[in-house]
Amino acid sequence: MRIENKVSLITGGGSGIGKSSALLFAREGSKVVVADINQTEGRSTVDEIIAAGGEATFVNADVSKATDCKNMIEQTEAKYGALHILFNNAGVMDSNDDNAEATTEDTWDLTMNINAKGVFLGCKYGIPALKRAGGGSIINTASFVSLLGAATPQVAYTASKGAVLSLTRELAVIHAREHIRVNALCPGPLRTELLMKFLNTEEKKQRRLVHIPMGRFGEADEMARAALFLASDDASYVTGTEFLVDGGITAAYVTPE
Ligand code: NAD
Repeated sequence: MRIENKVSLITGGGSGIGKSSALLFAREGSKVVVADINQTEGRSTVDEIIAAGGEATFVNADVSKATDCKNMIEQTEAKYGALHILFNNAGVMDSNDDNAEATTEDTWDLTMNINAKGVFLGCKYGIPALKRAGGGSIINTASFVSLLGAATPQVAYTASKGAVLSLTRELAVIHAREHIRVNALCPGPLRTELLMKFLNTEEKKQRRLVHIPMGRFGEADEMARAALFLASDDASYVTGTEFLVDGGITAAYVTPE
């Protein structure tokens, strides 16, 4: 087991990457706190972990709210005595996100509040807990669009993920000597609910697929395995990275037929 006796907190643990990671982390020996705004989905992840013989608990949290982030950390320490792995993964992609002219202020604010401020708040309250535990690993879910402009306009989302990557780098530098590693997981386009709702026509899906050398969307489980690496001591000298798991999308200039 790669993270035995560790305590992990995963935001957005009710679906997609967060859910796959919660299940995998529990299989690898971690106690898991699943935080999500969606109680039904979050509780169902916990039920699956417990049914498989693991340990997990659910905390209802909206990561854009400071009180909720403070509470999820407090609940984690109260239940399991420490926090070692903080996976700030919750994120949204608003269906009205578009180019700068068409994107509304509401879409911008909603996206920034959850995707960027949510990661900041997770770190703000989580870092003191990691220090109390003697160190740990933070994984922030950014995206390949932290590094590239997206083919389908989504300026608020792209800007929010750029913020996650920059924040991650700076925190990695600040906390390196406190045994806290901070890395950004940068997934490529995935076959999860978040993206499939946004790329809601075959034409939009194809427009994205054409850029991926592997010619397919990634799976949540493939991100979970990368997150496990970053969470575990296997990544003991890895901090401040943009950890790309993207089917080669950022390596491609022209994609082969
Ligand atoms: P998903 O929609 O399957 O899961 C997201 C989860 O976050 C859901 O359970 C949702 O309820 C929860 N959530 C949403 N807003 C929240 C809030 N305010 N507070 C707490 N929980 C909240 O999406 P996913 O594809 O698993 O995405 C996870 C992360 O990966 C996101 O940060 C997303 O931006 C990022 N990402 C996704 C893709 C992709 O193609 N799907 C690509 C790159 C990055």
